[in-house]
Amino acid sequence: MKRAGTAVWRAVLRGLLPARCSGCGMISDVPHALCADCWSALRFVSPPFCACCGYPFELMPVEMLAPAEDVAAQGRNFAEGVLCGPCLRHIPPYDRARAALIYDDGSRDYVLRYKHGDRTDLTPLLTRWMMQAGQDFWPDAALLVPVPLHRSRLLMRRYNQSGLLAAALAKQTGILFAPDLITRKRKTRSLAGLGRSSRLREVQGAFAISAKMAAKYDVAGRKIVLVDDVLTTGATAAACAHVLKKAGAMQVDLITIARVVR
Ligand SMILES: [Zn+2]
Ligand SMILES: [Zn+2]
Repeated sequence: MKRAGTAVWRAVLRGLLPARCSGCGMISDVPHALCADCWSALRFVSPPFCACCGYPFELMPVEMLAPAEDVAAQGRNFAEGVLCGPCLRHIPPYDRARAALIYDDGSRDYVLRYKHGDRTDLTPLLTRWMMQAGQDFWPDAALLVPVPLHRSRLLMRRYNQSGLLAAALAKQTGILFAPDLITRKRKTRSLAGLGRSSRLREVQGAFAISAKMAAKYDVAGRKIVLVDDVLTTGATAAACAHVLKKAGAMQVDLITIARVVR
């Protein structure tokens, strides 16, 4: 009864109050959208990018570009596109990573405020962008799996931002939401500033999938989409993809709001 009352009031208020820009709060015509100024402060990821990690070639430092002879060699194996140098040298355990935005001064505020819970109203806007960025994933994915938080962090923050995004994406795509498939066995320290091998060591063994959960979600042979807020080093996504593949997943793709470029 109380819930129905709240819904009615919300509908009434929506009619009375003007919509506002989700960025600056300025009055606008469209709910869950940005004004022209806020929009132009964001950089959306656009092709061409690495077929695996999704790093836009335009923003890639020269030393990350694959030498021409490697590109020629991979052409036989990667019919869908070209890989960057780092992916060629160490192919990540996930198959494709895609992000809506470049993580920079324009997008950082959205991501941080969403993460810390004061802007969960951004869910429709953020997932609209993620739907677009991950458009190749949705037709044949079987499960949407958020990167889990450790219990202690979950208690502190009260909710998992990746879980919220994955639930909203599940609703829009009709793909099954599997929030409890992966468990986080231990906390990991920040991976920023660590080298490749230290990052891998830090996340090794941090995630697990029980036989019970693998059976519950029928993971074997399925295509899975992992959901996280930001792709930073890729080590967390790689660790999750590793346990998913070990549990029998055929393909693991990653969708995030934003990705770091260096
Ligand atoms: Zn605005
Ligand atoms: Zn790459």
